[in-house]
Amino acid sequence: MKATKITALLFSLLLLASCAAPAAEEYTTTFLAMDTVMSVTAYGAGAQGAPEAAAERIRELEKLLSVTAEGSDVWNANHSGGEAVEVSPDTASLLRRALELCRSTGGALDVTIYPLVKAWGFTTGEYRVPVREELSALLERVDYARVALEGDRLCVPDGMELDLGAVAKGWTGDQVAALLADSGVTSAKLELGGNVQVLGAKPDGSPWRIAVRDPNGESYAGIVEVTDKAVVTSGGYERYFEADGITYWHIIDPASGCPARSGLASVTVIADSGALADALSTALFVLGAERAADYWRERRDFDFILLGEDGSVTVTPGIAERFTLCGSWESRRAEVVDVSSGVCK
Ligand code: FAD
Ligand code: MG
Repeated sequence: MKATKITALLFSLLLLASCAAPAAEEYTTTFLAMDTVMSVTAYGAGAQGAPEAAAERIRELEKLLSVTAEGSDVWNANHSGGEAVEVSPDTASLLRRALELCRSTGGALDVTIYPLVKAWGFTTGEYRVPVREELSALLERVDYARVALEGDRLCVPDGMELDLGAVAKGWTGDQVAALLADSGVTSAKLELGGNVQVLGAKPDGSPWRIAVRDPNGESYAGIVEVTDKAVVTSGGYERYFEADGITYWHIIDPASGCPARSGLASVTVIADSGALADALSTALFVLGAERAADYWRERRDFDFILLGEDGSVTVTPGIAERFTLCGSWESRRAEVVDVSSGVCK
């Protein structure tokens, strides 16, 4: 009787083991694109070959969107002498979205910032601090409202130059996430430089845990848990140089022509759309904590984590429960933006 029970128990255990879902297959590829290291990881039977298809799509978009590659849509528009040029549906679609966000952020995001980015040396690595007169002259050539896009006809006025560097990686994340979903993938993680975008949940059904970098070091300031979201961080620590003891970084305030100094060390935006998260991570860095909170109150279709240069942490209510500070930030308390007024609670 006892032996029968043991046999039955063993049989049940075997049955349970054979019924347990097998670990999902993982398919991954890592490559260089858009001047950064990217990796695409997809899970499940339908994921085979998907990361490679994603990488191909990213390279195709890079050829269209790069500001420096001769013959790209952006390069053609910047070198047309003010004539309209025909651009691909991809470029037109990204630019339309980017221009909307330039308008809604009151020009904190400005896709015509390139003359200034160049003047500071961020494209060549030949860094310099332009004098006030030079900046004033260059600011005359920065104004997204003068870019005309009608269908696939794009006109950038002579002397002005587009730069989609603040939004293109995020928008690319949306395209790749859609491509993966269309091929039946339900769980995937895209790491496109500082941009992370996840499709669905982890293969075991739990949320993805995405690290937010410590702007003061190489470690992490916190972990955010998300499902089906883009998590994009902009900070002064990625591309910068120092001159006479002052640090100058690549995010430029279109109001002054100088690197944006709003008191923020980094801005992480969490949204359904990578394009929105990327555009806003840059724009909110320019706007600073108070104006970022006002902008969030107007829209409420994204969340943010603001790390201040003074060590402050500000988060929106939608992410507060899913964000945990760690490392040297662990002892700090995150202020939660109040939904209805300008104060934090
Ligand atoms: P984000 O905060 O997302 O963007 C900052 C970048 O946006 C700045 O570097 C500047 O280019 C621009 N910017 C600054 N201020 C503003 C503002 N107020 N409004 C709008 N835009 C602003 N880098 C190279 O060195 N060589 C390359 O060949 C190269 N090719 C690239 C091709 C593509 C298609 C893309 C998308 C990027 C490429 N890059 C290249 C990188 C690019 O120049 C930027 O440095 C990068 O996109 C910055 O991304 P981020 O996430 O670090 O910062
Ligand atoms: Mg950005």
